[in-house]
Amino acid sequence: MISRAIRKAFERKKAKNWDKTYWGFDIHETIIIPNWSEEEIPMQFYPHAKEVMQMISSKQDIICILFTCSHPKEIKVYEPYFRENEIYFDYVNENPEVHSRKYGYYEKKPYFNVLFEDKAGFDPKEDWLIVKEVFKEFYPE
Ligand SMILES: [Mg+2]
Repeated sequence: MISRAIRKAFERKKAKNWDKTYWGFDIHETIIIPNWSEEEIPMQFYPHAKEVMQMISSKQDIICILFTCSHPKEIKVYEPYFRENEIYFDYVNENPEVHSRKYGYYEKKPYFNVLFEDKAGFDPKEDWLIVKEVFKEFYPE
């Protein structure tokens, strides 16, 4: 459940005195509604996805990583598209800030604290609003 992952990330950040956490985001069926077209790259956000992604990516202590199977030519379209929508990703399919150490080998699996991925249980129709509510607990306005 995404709310549990987010709470856990913030709790561990506090307990371990981390200065940031790393959040991974799939694109299709997570942020963007797929169109199953061969020619046209889907661009439509799920309800609340754009607003919540803007909130998340505006925080200096959250590193946002795109974690996608999009082809490189599609990523070239998505990167400026997200920036135009004020959604800022720090990396694509990698986390060069965290390297292997005693407790983890991160040369192939990027290190994440939170992962938004429909294939791992994220429900784009319900969970964006839940994320918004949990987020407000940790960043009250
Ligand atoms: Mg997906």
